[in-house]
Amino acid sequence: MEEIVKRLDRLPVAPHLRDYAAAVSGFSWARAIGEVTSAEGRVNIAERCVRHHVRGGRGERTAIRFLSAGAPAKDLSYADLERAMRRFGSVLARLGVDRGERVATLLGRTPELYITALGTLKAGAVFNPLFSAFGPEPVKARLGIGQARVLVTTDAWYTRKVAPIRAELPDLRHVLIVRTTPGTPLPPGTEDFAALYDAASEDFEGPPTTGEDPALLHFTSGTTGKPKGVVHVHGAIAAHLATARYVLDLHDDDIFWCTADPGWVTGISYGLIAPLACGVTMIVDREEFDVRRWYSILAGERVSVWYTAPTAVRMLMKAGLEPVREHRYPGLRLLASVGEPLNPEAVVWGVDAFGMPFHDNWWQTETGGIMISNYLAMNVRPGSMGKPIPGIEAAVVQRAGEDRVQVIGAADEVGELALKPGWPSMFRAYLNEEARYRACFVDGWYLTGDLVRRDADGYYWFVGRSDDVIKSSGHLISPFEVESALMTHPSVAQAAVIGLPDALMGAVVKAFVELKTDVAGDEALRRAILGHARGLLGPAVAPRDLAFVEQLPRTRSGKILRRLLRARELGLPEGDLSTLEGGA
Ligand code: ATP
Ligand code: MG
Repeated sequence: MEEIVKRLDRLPVAPHLRDYAAAVSGFSWARAIGEVTSAEGRVNIAERCVRHHVRGGRGERTAIRFLSAGAPAKDLSYADLERAMRRFGSVLARLGVDRGERVATLLGRTPELYITALGTLKAGAVFNPLFSAFGPEPVKARLGIGQARVLVTTDAWYTRKVAPIRAELPDLRHVLIVRTTPGTPLPPGTEDFAALYDAASEDFEGPPTTGEDPALLHFTSGTTGKPKGVVHVHGAIAAHLATARYVLDLHDDDIFWCTADPGWVTGISYGLIAPLACGVTMIVDREEFDVRRWYSILAGERVSVWYTAPTAVRMLMKAGLEPVREHRYPGLRLLASVGEPLNPEAVVWGVDAFGMPFHDNWWQTETGGIMISNYLAMNVRPGSMGKPIPGIEAAVVQRAGEDRVQVIGAADEVGELALKPGWPSMFRAYLNEEARYRACFVDGWYLTGDLVRRDADGYYWFVGRSDDVIKSSGHLISPFEVESALMTHPSVAQAAVIGLPDALMGAVVKAFVELKTDVAGDEALRRAILGHARGLLGPAVAPRDLAFVEQLPRTRSGKILRRLLRARELGLPEGDLSTLEGGA
């Protein structure tokens, strides 16, 4: 697909990153860390996100605007957040929560979630969000691994998801209840969030934290296996701030909307920390995904920078262009996506729908922040993840034995994506899994588990997770490439491919396809899509078989679960998904 060429003089606001080479050569993490460190040598995410702006005279600016259906928007200013986080910090101090102890949430996108996050960070404790749709088993597993001292949740969820497992969580000392129906009695063994909060002091000052103090515990999505508990430190904010500028191009008058749920790392790194660090107004929509609602938010709230995920983009595409054309989006200037590979069709669809492409970027829970990206002021190669952010040295490598890797210098060779350790948002531990953590670092590189290639101009292209790539007749087949080809067929909304064992070829490719709204999946269409893929990919790479599905299986964070498709197809056990990812 053709490169999307941009003209810098057409951009409505001068971008932070204008010249990639100059930004790379002029960048220093020491300076970035210096910028988030106080005169006394302290680094605290909450202080930098909130107090910094209040002290700078911008306390009255709206920090978070909460939207919900059928109710007026609720705004919290930076000054409101400062008072709120002091109060919650003081609640934790009263409960005897020590520095470094974990405070978890099982909450929807409510003000209490954001207040708990900031108050916990201010108090020097570690914030651990849990995805609110988890049922009792995944909640138990994560609270157990994290040894959470405090949990903040609602009365209804406590009764349904926590009370049945509470006895198995000896470390959990306090459960604070956000009441959904005022006046209902508190469940036994819990405390009232509002009562503690209202009685708390606004004078609270947390203990001094440094950049190396633990701040966040995030669980990975569990796409490849049992979720891991990933620990990040306060100094990570230096990376959040740098990437918010370089990648999301946030300026302090922006209206920013990150659609990721705050139960996952993106929803905290970029749905809380990065935007507040930049002093923008961020939108939090409390409702579920809805095509028309989302367009009306983008238009009505005059969102200027939008950060979303491939699944959402493809669901919007599935609904066609008519709903997007019901509005105009004069404020919008940057579209970005993360979480899964973004197929070229989706990148270009942005141009049809909004007059600008989606900018794909890559990172993972372990990296804590964006590592590779397409930039506002740079041409976009649809299907590419872009180039490493300034300060990040990336390479394509091949494992060569236990403790060595070989860096692949040549362009267009497939290998594992490796990053030179040392950036501030790099994870510091897999909780309780020290050996697994150490195994990620080989020969001076952090190995990501994702396969990529780099083209001659330095753009990185995602090939697949190392667990998902398919080897057939000696070829390495990229699931992403096959899925992208399938998605160029006009009837295909989403696709996932897997390799199935084959005596002759080693493996053959099988595709699973979700069709666009109102398209009937019959045999003629099945053959047509297989023929279309063969025409684009050639017979060696194209799928041999194809099945239509209503919905592809996904992790709770919305990622396609290829390992589950494979397990089902081969009649294998479905792994620990049933216990860890089980629903509400
Ligand atoms: P687990 O590690 O438990 O299997 P997970 O890897 O899905 O789960 P996350 O850390 O949420 O958990 O996801 C990061 C992964 O998502 C990356 O390693 C990569 O495989 C995929 N990913 C994220 N962004 C992109 C992107 N822009 N293009 C391709 N893949 C991406
Ligand atoms: Mg992972």
